[in-house]
Amino acid sequence: MKERGVLTVISGFSGAGKGTLVRKLIDEYDNYSLSISMTTRAPREGEQNGVHYFFIDKPTFEENIRSGKMLEYAEYQGNYYGTPKEYVEQQLSAGNDVILEIEYLGAFQVKKMLPEALLLFVTPPSADELLRRLRGRHTETEEQIRGRMKRAIEEADIVDKYEFILLNDDLDTCVRETHEIIQNAKYSVSRNAAFIDEIKRELKDLKEE
Ligand code: 5GP
Repeated sequence: MKERGVLTVISGFSGAGKGTLVRKLIDEYDNYSLSISMTTRAPREGEQNGVHYFFIDKPTFEENIRSGKMLEYAEYQGNYYGTPKEYVEQQLSAGNDVILEIEYLGAFQVKKMLPEALLLFVTPPSADELLRRLRGRHTETEEQIRGRMKRAIEEADIVDKYEFILLNDDLDTCVRETHEIIQNAKYSVSRNAAFIDEIKRELKDLKEE
């Protein structure tokens, strides 16, 4: 049987470059599967249904919550966002490393349900740089940008609940480091509890021989 994949949750300040980081990670290494979230927000220019998100209406989203189809969900800036459960389970069982790019409320729900999940937080080098990147996207109004900066202040308070920081200054470096962190997680003691139990048993057997 193939070993179960690592479930990695990537959150970060809005505008920190999470989306670009995640897409490059998926493109460069073939062991990753990206979970496509569902959202009730309207598509931005260039966004495609089933590629960037599954864009669905509020009643359909709420029905998915009721019928237990979501691994986690949260409300963000007046819209629902959530992770469909089935795809994540399928991919992890097939031995693929799954990436969720979600905000912190969802991240903590995932950690509660699946404690082996790895929580990573992406940050730009400074607050000024964050504002510069948000303005540079030209996808949001000044009011929305202010909303995202306000949210960033809240997010800064919960960073310490994450396991690793990803400093997104040079993108290529950040992609490589992200890959290394995820692959190293495979050697963590907690993920290898079954192996350690087996060694303990073997050692005992040897001693008794
Ligand atoms: P955006 O509207 O910029 O695409 O995403 C807004 C926020 O929602 C981002 O912080 C993004 O990480 C988060 N997000 C995207 N998909 C999900 C999801 O499935 N669940 C949760 N909890 N947050 C999500």
